[in-house]
Amino acid sequence: MLSVSNAQAIILNLVQPLDNQRDTEVVDLLAAASRILAAPVSSPLDFPHWDNSAMDGYAVRYEDVQHSSTEKPTVLEIIEEIPAGYQPKSTIGTGQAARIFTGAVMPAGADTVVMQEKTRREENRVFILTAPQPQEFVRHKASFYQAGTQLLPAGIRLNAPEIAVLAAAQCPKLNVYRRPRVAIFSTGDELVRADESLQPGQIVDSNQYALAALVKESGAEPLLLGIVKDEPVALRKVITDAAAIADIVLSSGGVSVGDYDYVDKILESLEAKIHIQAVDIRPGKPLTVATFPTDKGYRVSTHSPLYFGLPGNPASVLVTFWRFVLPAIKKLSGIREGWEPVFLKVRSHDELRSDGKRETYLWGKLHLINGVYEFHKASGSHSSGNLINLAQTNALALLPVGKTLISPQEEVEVLQLITP
Ligand code: AMP
Ligand code: MG
Repeated sequence: MLSVSNAQAIILNLVQPLDNQRDTEVVDLLAAASRILAAPVSSPLDFPHWDNSAMDGYAVRYEDVQHSSTEKPTVLEIIEEIPAGYQPKSTIGTGQAARIFTGAVMPAGADTVVMQEKTRREENRVFILTAPQPQEFVRHKASFYQAGTQLLPAGIRLNAPEIAVLAAAQCPKLNVYRRPRVAIFSTGDELVRADESLQPGQIVDSNQYALAALVKESGAEPLLLGIVKDEPVALRKVITDAAAIADIVLSSGGVSVGDYDYVDKILESLEAKIHIQAVDIRPGKPLTVATFPTDKGYRVSTHSPLYFGLPGNPASVLVTFWRFVLPAIKKLSGIREGWEPVFLKVRSHDELRSDGKRETYLWGKLHLINGVYEFHKASGSHSSGNLINLAQTNALALLPVGKTLISPQEEVEVLQLITP
């Protein structure tokens, strides 16, 4: 059977990132947080915009003050006061200084700032009590960023630091990738919505709600197509509809070997290419990954949508989403690197067991104990059919194939799902 890492490689290989010309939109800076930049940004402004002072103090000529000391202070005449936001008018000549404040523009003639604490003031004269370093406390024009060079590259997620940089660079509108469109439907005769009354034998379609939340969290746009009965005609229609509107299609259920598991057969009848049918993972073994032929009209912009037939069990849906679907959405979204899940090495609080036959994921919670993360396994059943003890978890512990036991206090690799 296909290993988890091979399955991940196949999936990422199938994903075509959004196109940096066609699949973009322009958004206001204030709406750009968490979006992915589609084009590199440069600015016509230097940073700093002009030489300015890093301190409250006095702008001086280094050559005037280089021999200053408490015993033999240099005395300078103050010819101007320069607060932040003011354009200095005079040129500092020999024996002269300007009173200057943090961020204020350096006056012509001066090359060094002496901090206020190293001076003594007497009316319009200042005594320099210590020799500064040449050019000390001057932030030079363009020393942080040179106008016209690349400020931010394409393919990065815009978080608060980037938003601040873009604001400072006066970029009020940004070219970002559109959100990936992810169609979601659930299959099963037994399923009802959360707001419908349950009849004997029925269960709520929790997967649709879970996937909608996961897709939203990922920055993509969920397109909810509802519940579909285990009927080939209805399934064929929803799969075709989904493929026509989405970049990624997520179904849950109907991919196992039961009599009512039609998804793979319908994909085959649509001439989809099935790349994966099962993965060596627990939970989540029956996982179908397929692509549609590009010449049959199942196209959204330049892409052939990627189809994930996720298993029906609620825990399997979450685990396979985190492990396989999320990296695919990230790559599709235009993020230029770092698609794969990141595992942390932490200490396990509990004994973790697996039969060693499949790569096993156990859900639980990361606790910070004296500044060190510790994984606490969720109590109760880790059966793929149990979703109740998934609530309030934020990490998955990984037991690789062949590993049957991780003892308390031993190191374990965990996939962090939500920042605690
Ligand atoms: P299946 O692979 O379709 O046989 O589904 C496996 C198990 O997951 C069955 O017990 C289903 O009832 C359950 N299941 C399937 N789809 C969903 C869903 N959308 N929400 C919650 N449970 C589901
Ligand atoms: Mg089913």
